[in-house]
Amino acid sequence: MQQSGQSTAQKQEKNHSHHLHPFSDNGALKEEGARIIESAQGVYLYDSDGNQILDGMAGLWCVNIGYGRQELVEAACHQMKELPYYNTFFKTTHNPAIQLAEKLAEITPEHMNHVFFTGSGSECNDTVLRMVRHYWATKDQPAKQVIISRENAYHGSTVAGASLGGMKPMHKQGGLPIPGIVHIQQPYWFGEGGDLSPEAFGLKAAQALDEKILELGEDKVAAFIAEPIQGAGGVIVPPSTYWPEIKRILNKYDILLVVDEVICGFGRTGEWFGSDYYGLKPDLMPMAKGMSSGYLPIGGVMVSDRVASVVQAGGDFNHGFTYSGHPTAAAVALENIKILQNENIIEKAKTETGPYLQKRWAELADHPLVGETRGVGMVAALEITNNKEARTRFDDEGTAGTICRDFCFKNGLVMRAVGDTMIISPPLIISHAEIDELVTKAQKCLDLTMEYFKSW
Ligand SMILES: *Cc1c(COP(=O)(O)O)cnc(C)c1O
Repeated sequence: MQQSGQSTAQKQEKNHSHHLHPFSDNGALKEEGARIIESAQGVYLYDSDGNQILDGMAGLWCVNIGYGRQELVEAACHQMKELPYYNTFFKTTHNPAIQLAEKLAEITPEHMNHVFFTGSGSECNDTVLRMVRHYWATKDQPAKQVIISRENAYHGSTVAGASLGGMKPMHKQGGLPIPGIVHIQQPYWFGEGGDLSPEAFGLKAAQALDEKILELGEDKVAAFIAEPIQGAGGVIVPPSTYWPEIKRILNKYDILLVVDEVICGFGRTGEWFGSDYYGLKPDLMPMAKGMSSGYLPIGGVMVSDRVASVVQAGGDFNHGFTYSGHPTAAAVALENIKILQNENIIEKAKTETGPYLQKRWAELADHPLVGETRGVGMVAALEITNNKEARTRFDDEGTAGTICRDFCFKNGLVMRAVGDTMIISPPLIISHAEIDELVTKAQKCLDLTMEYFKSW
C-alpha cells in the first residue's frame, strides 16, 4: 500500500522533518518513526505497510458509527457545494446550524434546549469557564468565580481546558492551572481506595466536594465540572455510591453542574449521554468527539433553560469562534446523528453489543496480570498489577502499560495505556465477532506482557 511510490521510511523521514505531534515525545518519535494510517473501514485501520489493525479506541473515542460511511461524505460534499462556510456572529445563521441545534435539543435531556457551537471539546470548556462566570455576574453575584474540578480529569488542552483538567504533567508545562480553578479527589478506587470498600470510597470521594464548597464558601463557587466516567484519566467508572452522593451535595447549594460529555455523549455508555446513564441534571454539557463521529471537527456546549434564559437576558456575550456552527461540520454531525437514530445504534449498544463486550471483557479478570476489569456500555478498562490483592504495579508506574500497548500494536489491535491501565472504547457498530477478536488479541498481549516480565 505505497502511495506516490514512497516507502514508509521515506514518509516517516519527511514527517519528522516537519511535523510536531501532540502529546508525544517528538525526539523519541524521530528515532522510532510514526505509524502511518492510510485508510479505514468499519472498525479496521490499514497502515502504510498494509497491516490491518482493529481500532479498539474508535480513533480518539470519537468514530462512534465506524469508518467509511458514505452518507457523511455526501453530506459534506453537498454542503460544501451549497455553502462551504459562513459564520454565526453578527446576527447571521444558516440551515445546518439551525437544523443541528434543533436536533441536539431533541436528543439531549429535556431541560436543555440551546447549544453554543464550538470546533472542539477544549473550546467547549473554554466556553464553559466564561459562560458560568458570565452567568453569575449577570445575576449580580460576580464573586462566584471558582470552578471545582477533579484530579486526573481531562477537559482538553487549551489553557482553560488543561486548567480545568487535573493532569499534573499538563499543569507542569505553561504555568497551569490558571487562578480560580481547584481540584478535589477523583473516585478512582483501584488506585486510591486503600482499605476502603469501593462503596465507602465512592462516598468519601464525593464528600470531598462538600468539604471544598464549605472551605471556599458557597458564595465563591460558580460550578462543579466532571466527566460522568473519566475517559483519558483511565476509564474511571466511579463506585455506585459516587454520583448519588454528588447529586445530594449539589442539591444543597446554588452551584452549577457541568457534565463533560465529550466522551460519554452520543452513545458511549449505551444511553445518548452519560447524564442519562447516571440520572444527572447538568446546567451545561460540553459535547464533541462522537457528535460527528470525528469525521469533521465540531463541538457544542448544551445549555439548560435556566442558564440560557440568563445568558439571553445578559446582553452581549463576548465569546465565540470563527468555526462556531461551521456549516459543513454541522451538516456532517446532523447526518451522523440521523444514522445513530435510524440504525438504533445506541439501543443496540445498550442491549446487545455493550453487554456482550462487557461479558467478554470481564473474562480477562482471570488473567494473572489483571487486578480489575470495569466498564459501562462500549467503554472498558483493566488494571495491570503484579499483586492482585495489594493492587501494586510492576517497576515504575506505566512501564507494564506501555509494554502491553506496544504488543497490541504489533498484533493488530489499538488498545490504549494510561499508566498501567489498559483501556478500550471501540466504534459502537463493532460486531460480536469483532469483539471476540478484540478480546482474544487483548488476552494474547497480556500473555506476551507476562512473558516479558518473567524473562526480565
Ligand atoms: C477529548 C476531550 C476533551 C477535549 O476535546 P478536544 O476536541 O480534543 O479539544 C474535553 N473533555 C473530554 C472529556 C475529552 O475526552
